[in-house]
Amino acid sequence: MMIVKLGGSALTIKDAQKPTVDEENLNRIAREVSNYNDDMIIVHGAGSFGHILAKEYQIGKEIEDADDNLFKIRGLSLIQSSMQSLNYKVVTKLQENNVPAIGIKPSSFIMTQNQRITICDVNIVKKYVDEGFVPVIYGDAVLDLNDKIKFGIISGDQLITYFAKQLHADKVILSSDVDGIYTDNPKTNPDAQLLDTVTRDTQLTLTENENQADVTGGMAGKIKELLELADEGIESMIINAEKEGNLERAVSGKKVKGTIIR
Ligand code: ADP
Repeated sequence: MMIVKLGGSALTIKDAQKPTVDEENLNRIAREVSNYNDDMIIVHGAGSFGHILAKEYQIGKEIEDADDNLFKIRGLSLIQSSMQSLNYKVVTKLQENNVPAIGIKPSSFIMTQNQRITICDVNIVKKYVDEGFVPVIYGDAVLDLNDKIKFGIISGDQLITYFAKQLHADKVILSSDVDGIYTDNPKTNPDAQLLDTVTRDTQLTLTENENQADVTGGMAGKIKELLELADEGIESMIINAEKEGNLERAVSGKKVKGTIIR
């Protein structure tokens, strides 16, 4: 089984002030992914459909008082529907390309403890895969079992790691808007070098893009999740979804330039 992440930075205009799909990228990505040759689960990120609202409503931060509780309840409901609308766009685009995609809402079957997944029935998703579907899940705002925060955010990257471990994925592909992991942020440092491989011993500088509100930690959060996966013996790969043909080659088992995390 393969698990494929479609990064929020490629699917959406991540630094837009309101939720905006990158239509050109979405069209091409859906077409490329339709060339998959194995059982597949797709996980997509939030980009501008999630991070702006999550930051505004301070989801995952301690609840201060009754008013703040009401404020965060409103935030959670807005984030969930915003993410459902992005998921709907991704799923319908995949269907147009003959992929039997079904959207599954993570917050309807996942709860966290301090924003780490603790309750999650992967069997439902697995059963859809066994029946020939391509489940499409995504980073979401969920109920948290810690009474002090009550609500939390799960990143697409945390879902990738959790599902890959639970379902013993053979192949884990993450696509983003950069060629892989660099020695420093390639968008701000022209001297940054692309790394072929990253392990726990690799020295990196991880900076956040100033104009991007990423509540899940951007590239640093991604690497943390993927190193955890590597600890379990599952390798993953980061590739650039914005370069034509990369995703198509990756899902059909061909070699692609990128970074392997092991
Ligand atoms: P996605 O939304 O596609 O999952 P993120 O936006 O969370 O991805 O992370 C990708 C971004 O991380 C890149 O656009 C890049 O600007 C930034 N970044 C910061 N440090 C690095 C680094 N060392 N190597 C690669 N990208 C980095």
